[in-house]
Order: sequence, then C-alpha cells, then structure tokens
Amino acid sequence: MRTRFLGGVHPTSHKESTRRKPIVPLEEPPKEVVIPLVMCAQGGAEPVVKKGDLVSVGQVIAKPTGDGVYVHASVSGRVKAIEPRPHPWGGKWDAVVIENDFKNTSYPDLPLPMDWERMNREEALERICQAGITSLGGGASPTHLRIRQAVGKTEILIVNAAECEPYLTADHRLLLEKGDQILQGVQMLSRLVRAEKAILVVAGDKLNAVEFLERRLRRKKREVEIVTIQTRYPLGMEKQLIRAVTGREVSPGQSALDVGCAVFNVATVYAIRHALLTGEPLTHRAVTVSGGAVARPRNLWVPIGTPLRCLLQAAGGLREKAAVTLTGGPMNGLIQEDLDAPVVKNTNALLCLTEQEHNVNQPEMVCVKCGHCVSACPMDLNPVLVYRAMRLGEKELLAGLHLEDCMDCGCCSYICPSHIPLMDLMRQAKKEGASHD
Ligand code: SF4
Ligand code: SF4
Repeated sequence: MRTRFLGGVHPTSHKESTRRKPIVPLEEPPKEVVIPLVMCAQGGAEPVVKKGDLVSVGQVIAKPTGDGVYVHASVSGRVKAIEPRPHPWGGKWDAVVIENDFKNTSYPDLPLPMDWERMNREEALERICQAGITSLGGGASPTHLRIRQAVGKTEILIVNAAECEPYLTADHRLLLEKGDQILQGVQMLSRLVRAEKAILVVAGDKLNAVEFLERRLRRKKREVEIVTIQTRYPLGMEKQLIRAVTGREVSPGQSALDVGCAVFNVATVYAIRHALLTGEPLTHRAVTVSGGAVARPRNLWVPIGTPLRCLLQAAGGLREKAAVTLTGGPMNGLIQEDLDAPVVKNTNALLCLTEQEHNVNQPEMVCVKCGHCVSACPMDLNPVLVYRAMRLGEKELLAGLHLEDCMDCGCCSYICPSHIPLMDLMRQAKKEGASHD
C-alpha cells in the first residue's frame, strides 16, 4: 500500500452506516427540481427555455456562457419559473424550476451512442461538452476543458476513487455496482488524453472493491492498474494523490500536468463513459446522505436539482437535532442553512451531524503552541503563524506564508486542541493576502 505523504489526519471514518447500502433511486421523486444556471466556478449558462415550456429528461435548458457548462432537465414536466433560488455554494442564484410530471419522459433527440473503439477525439470532446459534465468529486470544473488541456501532456492518468473524507461512500458503491463500466470509462479517458498508463486509485478501506475490480481485470485483460493507498485524509486531494501514487512532487504554482499526470474523479469517469456510450447527458448523480442526526443513512441516485430537503426525507428525516448540515465531507464541506438548496453537479453528500460529531459549538481557547496544526498540514504550511497574523493584527506577516498553497483541507482545524477555526482563518487570510499584494 502506497503512502509517500506528509501530514494529514486520521478522522474516524463513519462510513459503516452507508458502505453496504446500494445506490438506489428516490422512492418519491421531487415535486419540483431547482436547476441552477451556475454549475461550475468558471462560468454560468443562459436559459434556452422559458416559463410554461414543457421539457423532458436530458433536454438542454441552458447553454454555457464563458467557460460554463450545458445544463439539462433532470425530470420531465413544465418550467414553472426562472428565478433566483438558494444555491448550495451560498446565496441565491438564477435557477430553472421544473414542475415534475412524474412521467420521466426522455428527450427524443438525444445524440446516438458512439462506437468508442473508433471514436474521433474532437467528436468525443464535443459530446462530453454537450453532456454538461463537470468534475463530480467537488471541484466542479468543466470536464471537456480539463481533458483538452490534458491531451498530449499526460503520461499517467490517475482516476481518483480514494474518497478519503469521512462518511462518504457514494464512490465506493459506484465501484462495487458499476465496476465494469468504470474500468471501461478509464480506458476510454486514457485513450482520449493519450496517456501512457492508467491507474485507478482506491483507498485501503475499500478492499472489497479492489478485489472485485482485480477479478474483473483478470477476466477482461483491461489495461488499467489498480493502486491501493493508505486511508488517510486528505490523500484524495490531487497533489497528495500524485505524490502517493507516483512519487512526483507538484511544486507550488505547478499543476498536475506539469509533472505528466492528469487526475479525474471516478464518478466523472463514469459520467463520461455514460455520455459517450448512451448519448445521455449528466442529469443524475449518486449522493451519500449520512451523519449521526439522520434516521436512515443511505446512498441515493437523484436528479440534479432535487432539493436537499427531499434527500433528507428519503433518509427518514432527522432522528435528533443536527448541530450542522453540510454538503460534501465534514472536513471541507459547505455548511447549508437552507434545505431548499438543490443538489448540483458536484454535490456528493448531504451530512447532518450531531454536536458530538462536529465540534461547532466548542469554545475557542488560546493557542497552546503545540504545533499539531503544522505537523498535520499536508502542504507544509504554518497555520499557527496565520492565526497570529490574523488574531494579533500582524497582517504584514501574511506575505511570506505561501497562503496560495492552502487547499482548504481542514486538517489544521480538525487537529487543533484549542478549537481554533484555522481553516476559516486561512480562507480569510487568503483574501487579506490578496488585498495586500
Ligand atoms: S493550512 Fe490549508 S492546507 Fe494546511 S492543513 Fe490547514 S487547510 Fe489544510
Ligand atoms: S494546533 Fe492549535 S493550539 Fe496547537 S499550535 Fe496550532 S493553533 Fe496553536
């Protein structure tokens, strides 16, 4: 098992409650879906439907502006409104609201399946673009652009199925339930970026998935290597993953491609294969609904745009008051105040954590200079100096602290015995640092 990795933490995995729960569709589909026009950090989309229009599943409802992505209807029905609605990334953003007719009618003019053995790269990239695929592991960048950048520069394609954040099991279930399709997707992507080698990286807490995939590979002689890495957070983050798997160091200011690696999340690879082989765009995704406050934690296959409230209902609601509700993992997920916010393309989990699980209400104490935050930082940064600069008003110190390397992993906040919200201070400091430049 490969490690080659500094820092990091071992949070309790909390995956037991969902790791054996298959990904199932919602028993009660949402009455309406709220599909935001902003699905990636690079840009938004312009609606091509209007209030009152009838739409079907897979139909384009918004076209990208700038480097945004196509947005599709995930249920069939009538457009009820195009208006600002809560977005899980914060605030209110324009969204297409579709009243579900519960007929699940597919859009009749979807593109034809491609013959991937003979596919032309440009056609495939156009298909992936039209399918509106973004990184589904959290990053939310347009996948066709990432593939285009990687063509000819990728020695090693790394497909990330580490899923090292606590509670999250949707990718693990995807490996077990769609293993053949994922292996085929890895081969397809490897061919698209012209990689010399393709590696599927799985964390050591998913050995049943590793054994299953190894068996499939033996039978079908597919050219994908499975690499198992230590279960340690944040090993699933790009730079750490590259170091653990290849020993290559991505220096500050460099990208993965500078060291000949391209990293894609496993759910994204599954979506790419699906779009190429079926012609269907990205309209649904797997989401883990978990946390100690959730009555019946489970993995769900949901239409994009489903309000978070519906996911919680499908998991039996709350069995006790949640101290915090998050989308994404507990280490660097986003706090959700409004459960009317919908699932977007990069929503991999909805977590409702109890006070015991999440130390939100622990009083902050003074720094005891233990140095744990420094040892835990996988980027070799010095969070305690950032704390001093921000709290003691020595902001001129920020300039030399390489804040730009912080990847918001949250290890420093997690490990701090004084409950100092170091990651939040880092985020603030990045803004301050930027304004100092
Ligand atoms: S300083 Fe940034 S990179 Fe380092 S542990 Fe904290 S959040 Fe992670
Ligand atoms: S972990 Fe917390 S208490 Fe320890 S040095 Fe860092 S900021 Fe101070």
